[in-house]
Amino acid sequence: MLPVVALVGRPNVGKSTLFNALTRSRDALVADLPGVTRDRHYGVCHLGERPFVVVDTGGLSGVDEGLDALTAQQVRLAIDEAQALVFVLDARDGLLPQDRSILDELRRSGKPIIAAVNKTDGLDEQAALAEFAAFGIATTLPLAAAHNRGTDQLFAALLPLLPEDAHEELAPDENDSIRVAIVGRPNAGKSTLVNRLLGEDRLIVSDVAGTTRDPIRVPLERDGRKYTLIDTAGVRRRARVEEAVEKFSVIKTLQSMAAAQVVVLMVDARENLADQDLTLIGHALDEGRALVIAVNKWDGLDTYQREQCQRALERRLQFVDWAKSVFISALHGSGLRELMRAVVRAHAAATKELGSSDLTRTLEKAYQNYQPPLVRGHAPKLRFAHPGGSNPPTIVLHGSRTKHIAPAYQRYLENFFRKRYKLEGTPIRIVFREGE
Ligand code: GDP
Ligand code: GDP
Repeated sequence: MLPVVALVGRPNVGKSTLFNALTRSRDALVADLPGVTRDRHYGVCHLGERPFVVVDTGGLSGVDEGLDALTAQQVRLAIDEAQALVFVLDARDGLLPQDRSILDELRRSGKPIIAAVNKTDGLDEQAALAEFAAFGIATTLPLAAAHNRGTDQLFAALLPLLPEDAHEELAPDENDSIRVAIVGRPNAGKSTLVNRLLGEDRLIVSDVAGTTRDPIRVPLERDGRKYTLIDTAGVRRRARVEEAVEKFSVIKTLQSMAAAQVVVLMVDARENLADQDLTLIGHALDEGRALVIAVNKWDGLDTYQREQCQRALERRLQFVDWAKSVFISALHGSGLRELMRAVVRAHAAATKELGSSDLTRTLEKAYQNYQPPLVRGHAPKLRFAHPGGSNPPTIVLHGSRTKHIAPAYQRYLENFFRKRYKLEGTPIRIVFREGE
C-alpha cells in the first residue's frame, strides 16, 4: 500500500498550497483567512521517485480548546496513519510559540519529522532557516510552495523515510488475477457486495482469523475467472467503526485504488450522485485505473425511479461516458454476473496490447479526417505513434508544435483511438513528443 505523508502546521503557513503542488490538484481550497475550518484533503503525489498519499491536515493552532480540540483530534488521526510528517512553518512569521507546542505534539508521535520552512521566496534562505534551527530538527528545508520551489529537496528527504511499496511484489496467484478495488461512500453497499461475492463461509472464517491483522487482499474465483479484492477487510468492517475513523478511510480508498487495476465505484441508486462520488472518480482517473460504476439498491425501485436515476447518472457521468454503469442489488445478488463481466472487459481494455504500426496508421487516419487548427499559419504535425504502457493504455504521439494542440483536439484523438481499439472502461493517456 502507498505510504502516507501528513502535512502539519499552523493555519495559513501554506499547507494547502504545498498539497496542491504535490498532488497537482486544482480543487483543494486555498483561503487567505487564518483559522478557516475545512475538511482535510487527500491526494496522491506522483512527482517524486515513489508515490505516496498526501494528507493536508488543515492545521493545528497549538491551543487545544473547543473547535480547535476537535480539529486537533482529526490531525492526530492523520499523524497516526502517516509514516512521515512534514512540519510546515512560515518564514515570514518566524518561530511562534504555537509552532513549539505543535512540535511537542509531533515529537510525541515518534514519527520522523521534516521541517519545511515555507514562503522563503524573496528572503535570504539561510537567514530564514537559521531562526528555526532552535527546534533542533535534523532536516530543515527551505520551501516556496507557491512557486513550486524546494519540492525536489523535500522528495529527497522523504524517500528514505517511506517504506518500500509492498504492492509491487505480487503473490504468485495474483499474477493471473484481476485486482479490483470496490470503493464508494459509506452505506453504498460495499460490504454487502463483498460479502455476496465471497460467500458467507469465507467471510466467517476470515473474520475470526482477521481480528488482529487485516487481510489486505482476498482472492475470489467466479465463473472461472480469478480476482483479487483489494482492502476487503477495511471495506467489510467499515460498518462497525466509529465516525471519525470512518471518515479517515479516504486514505485506505486511495491506497486500494492505487493497488488495483479496476476500480468499481459503488453508488446508491436511491441517492443523488454526490460531489464525493465525483471526487472518487477523479482520483481513479488520476491513477489511470479502469472504472466500472455499480449502481446499487436497484431492487424495489419502480420504472419511473429507475428512469430518473439512469438519466441523472448519464448527465453527471458524461465526462466518463466510456465507463459502464451496471445496475445491481448487492442484497439480493442480482446483476453481479454482469458487474463482473464489465470488470473483466474493463481490465481487458486497460491491458490491451497496441502495436506501433497499427497505432501510426490509426493516427494518420485521424489526422486526415480532421486536422488540428493552424497556429500562426502553421499546422501542428503528428507523424507517428507507439505504445507507451498499459493500465491505462498510453499512446505516445510524435510530431511538431505539439504543445499547440488544443484540448478539444486531444479529446478528438482520444475518442478516435478509443473507438478504433474498443477501449471501453478505461481512461486513455495520450502523450505528445516533439520531433523524432
Ligand atoms: P494553510 O492554511 O497552511 O493551508 O495555508 P495556505 O496554503 O492556504 O496558504 C496561506 C497563504 O500563504 C495563501 O495566501 C498563500 O497564497 C500563501 N502562500 C503559500 N505558499 C507561499 C509561498 O511559497 N510564498 C508566499 N509568498 N506565499 C505563500
Ligand atoms: P458500505 O458502508 O458501503 O459497506 O454499505 P453496507 O454494505 O454496510 O450497506 C449499507 C446498508 O445498505 C445496509 O443496511 C445494507 O443492508 C443496505 N444494502 C446494501 N445493498 C443493498 C441493496 O442492494 N438493496 C437494498 N435495498 N439495500 C442494500
